[in-house]
Amino acid sequence: MKRHDVLILGGGLAGASAARVAHQAGADVAIVSKLSPLRSHTVAAAGGINAALAAGDTWEGHAFDTIKGSDFLADQDSVEILCREAPNLIVEMDHLGTPFSRDESGTLFNRPFGGMRQARAFFAGDRTGLALMQTAWEQLVKAGVTLYEEWAATSLIVENGRFSGLIAYRIADGTLEEFQGKAVVVCTGPGGQMYLKSTNAVTCTGDGTALAFRAGCALKDMEFVQFHPTSLHGPNILITEAARGEGGILKNAKGERFMEKYSPKMVDLAPRDIVSRSIQTEANEGRAFPGGYVHLDLTHLGAARIKERLPEVYQFSTEFAGVDPGKEPIPIEPAQHYIMGGIATNNAGATNVPGIFAAGECACVSLHGANRLGGNALLECIAFGKHAGAAAAAFAKKTAQIAGGEQILQQEDRRVDWLLKTEGGERVEALRLELKQVMWDNVGVFRNEQDMAAALAAVRALRKRYPSIRVGAPGKQFNYALIEAMELRNLLDLSEVIVMPNRDDPNWLKHTLAWWRGDRIELTYEPVRITQWQPQERTY
Ligand SMILES: Cc1cc2nc3c(=O)[nH]c(=O)nc-3n(C[C@H](O)[C@H](O)[C@H](O)COP(=O)(O)OP(=O)(O)OC[C@H]3O[C@@H](n4cnc5c(N)ncnc54)[C@H](O)[C@@H]3O)c2cc1C
Repeated sequence: MKRHDVLILGGGLAGASAARVAHQAGADVAIVSKLSPLRSHTVAAAGGINAALAAGDTWEGHAFDTIKGSDFLADQDSVEILCREAPNLIVEMDHLGTPFSRDESGTLFNRPFGGMRQARAFFAGDRTGLALMQTAWEQLVKAGVTLYEEWAATSLIVENGRFSGLIAYRIADGTLEEFQGKAVVVCTGPGGQMYLKSTNAVTCTGDGTALAFRAGCALKDMEFVQFHPTSLHGPNILITEAARGEGGILKNAKGERFMEKYSPKMVDLAPRDIVSRSIQTEANEGRAFPGGYVHLDLTHLGAARIKERLPEVYQFSTEFAGVDPGKEPIPIEPAQHYIMGGIATNNAGATNVPGIFAAGECACVSLHGANRLGGNALLECIAFGKHAGAAAAAFAKKTAQIAGGEQILQQEDRRVDWLLKTEGGERVEALRLELKQVMWDNVGVFRNEQDMAAALAAVRALRKRYPSIRVGAPGKQFNYALIEAMELRNLLDLSEVIVMPNRDDPNWLKHTLAWWRGDRIELTYEPVRITQWQPQERTY
């Protein structure tokens, strides 16, 4: 058994930000992470991080764009916090050593991003997430925060309605252990691997979201899934929005700049939901290339500019599509990218279960409503990672540790043992693939009643088949087949929550809350918090 005041589950940008602040507040902090922190999905973030930092920009402008982008379903008091704090957070990261791109005079460069009326995405080439993650990571090494890396959490322990610890599985040797803590900040990141086409890393399986859900935390707005318009056709590697921020143009198979039709004002830089639906409409109406892709044309920028500002776009296009973006357009298609919903928290990162906090992509504060604007996710990780870390440390200070994870540990031990020995006929990877196909075909870029009903029935049927799985590898050392079996359970549970909510137009200005009731999932609703921006028609 291990014991620390504050446990941080996940070592990505949100977890690292939470850990730093909790440590500074004097708490004994430990990070428990399935991956080595520098392999977290944050390092794949490319395009930028938003702040109203340029001359003439205001936090109110940033907030309004974010709220309009969310289709007025974000909580406006939370968005105000994000946008007010953003400029100082960028300056802080700069001072801590993030190598932001700048001009000859030393001023930070910024670029326009979708749905923003002003250029306010700051960047380090197109490796912004990697740069921020390295900075955040260095601070943890410097502070000497304890790290348990390659430990996958399998459950959160709640005793008498309060958090008391978690169980984690050590991937290297199969040790299952209880970690006691007074508070936990769940920072387990994205979970888009239930979709066939996704820009998320294969490790993004929504583990912490599912663990918190099963431990009694409400999940908020899970039906809102973002599809990024420009992933590389085939491997679905993200081609960052920065490519359009730098001047990239979308064209259909007839060579038409089709976004002029769908978004006369913002054209190629309309918000992601609008661009994805436009591409899908072009494909549905027969104006895409065979296989359903369209072109992203950067040729007018020239190879030198692309290599300077978008080195990863250059590399991915040449290596994975065999296309030199300086000479030919890049074949792109929409893919799942981000889940706006997640573990419901207040502005301090607290959930409805005392002692459980959450931050980053797995949380829903809510800042993004029905559609997130590019560049706001990295910002959320730092801003609300810090709030959650501070709140968890304060909570731990005034709380006594409660014991009692022994029973859960035994239960988890039996479950792992069962997974290792079970001889069922269902292969884990085959079930995962079926789930991905169901979700992509039925609840992808467009959702309608009939397909959603089909998806719900299919997901429930897949969940019923889960007890008949077969891991097929009995070993304890680096048994990734076992890890994938545990991940599949999380993906299945979350998929059901994603497909459950029904459309209800008369009552549309609402949040959906999903509750785990063991045998079934229950939905409740709460109003959206509005401060100063009244809902209006969303045209661009
Ligand atoms: C390809 C791509 C590009 C993006 N580009 C941008 C961009 O330019 N700008 C922007 O603002 N946003 C961008 N985003 C979104 C943004 O990067 C993410 O929302 C954000 O980085 C998530 O950070 P996080 O700390 O919440 O999660 P992560 O960085 O994914 O970290 C999650 C951590 O949780 C740990 N973990 C997971 N499961 C378990 C478990 N069971 N037990 C223990 N630990 C666990 C992992 O080890 C990992 O350390 C992009 C996303 C993608 C996929």
